[in-house]
Amino acid sequence: MIKYLSANYIVPVSSAPLKNGVIAIDENGVIQGIYESTSSDIIGKKIEKYAGVIVPGFVNAHCHVELSHMRGQLAKGTGLPKFLSSVMSSRDAKKALVVKHMNAADEEMYANGIVAVGDHVNTSLSADLKNESKIHYHTFVEIIGLEPELVDGKVDAAKNLRLNFDEKFSSITPHAPYSCSKQLFKKFKKSVSEDNIISIHNQESEEENKLFRYKTGDFLDFFEVIGKDVDLLKAQARNSIQSYLPYLPQVNKLMLVHNTFTSLKDLDFVERMGREIYWCFCPKSNLYIENALPKVMNFVNDNQKIVLGTDSLASNDTLSILEELRALHVEFPELDFTQTISWATLNGAELLRISDRFGSLEFGKKPGIILLKNMIHLKITDDVTVERLA
Ligand SMILES: [Zn+2]
Repeated sequence: MIKYLSANYIVPVSSAPLKNGVIAIDENGVIQGIYESTSSDIIGKKIEKYAGVIVPGFVNAHCHVELSHMRGQLAKGTGLPKFLSSVMSSRDAKKALVVKHMNAADEEMYANGIVAVGDHVNTSLSADLKNESKIHYHTFVEIIGLEPELVDGKVDAAKNLRLNFDEKFSSITPHAPYSCSKQLFKKFKKSVSEDNIISIHNQESEEENKLFRYKTGDFLDFFEVIGKDVDLLKAQARNSIQSYLPYLPQVNKLMLVHNTFTSLKDLDFVERMGREIYWCFCPKSNLYIENALPKVMNFVNDNQKIVLGTDSLASNDTLSILEELRALHVEFPELDFTQTISWATLNGAELLRISDRFGSLEFGKKPGIILLKNMIHLKITDDVTVERLA
């Protein structure tokens, strides 16, 4: 049974928006056709009309679902090093409680129109949820380690943890430049195959740049608190990204997450390396932890690939890509929705290698069909809400 749906606009993402367009889906939500309002193919068809804009399901490129029980627990505006200390001292909780909050987070994301998630883990706690969820997950198993002598064990442990998750839709990844030694980066590079997608936290805090440039700042206090020896760290006289990027394997798909303090010089450096990067913005998390946002227009003007993430409920009060879009459009009114919608959908699907199914409204795909209500033409306002149509 084919259903025909129409709205004020259909935004396929992979092609131009269709005013009063029509989309046909079968009973499984697989797209059977997309039509202009004047198409002869839809004459005589029974068409369900909606007020709003139809878009494909959202891709949340960055989350830590296993931290969902920490919603509302951590103070805002502390800066990253203090935030990390708080996460480490309060993340432990009874398994049943963690599972309960993870399940609720999964349902919240589904209701908010999210169809796929790039999810970081340090434990296997989310494995059962991911097997059963209506959402597609790609799991990034984090490697963390500043002690050069423990490098081999760290990589082996990550590989073992990964066995709990779908092999095709998981990979191992360094957690962040400040939490991995140079030796660990090198070992990682030797240990992964070319199809291992990398997702690393990058320049979330100016303190990270200070640590790499001058070996100063709040990260040194953080390391002292967690008992890490930083004698081997040397000031590099350049930002973190310029120090560690050369250690990452060149051909692997690479997402850098946050980029709140990535400079124009850093972008030039990346371009000179000839490296394609997916830049993931998590604006609400940045506002929560650092009360700062990335210089988004630098990336736009440089034609960089951008994706969006919610980060975890430890640093966000919602898991909603629409909310992330809204935060960006409020701060950067010059952004156009027809551009940012690809950040929220197709770019993330390409990164996670699931664009055969997700990310755009195209024949044969099953991307989730989302109605954005209360849009004014193609603008996100305070009143826009999400309804799932399929
Ligand atoms: Zn994160």
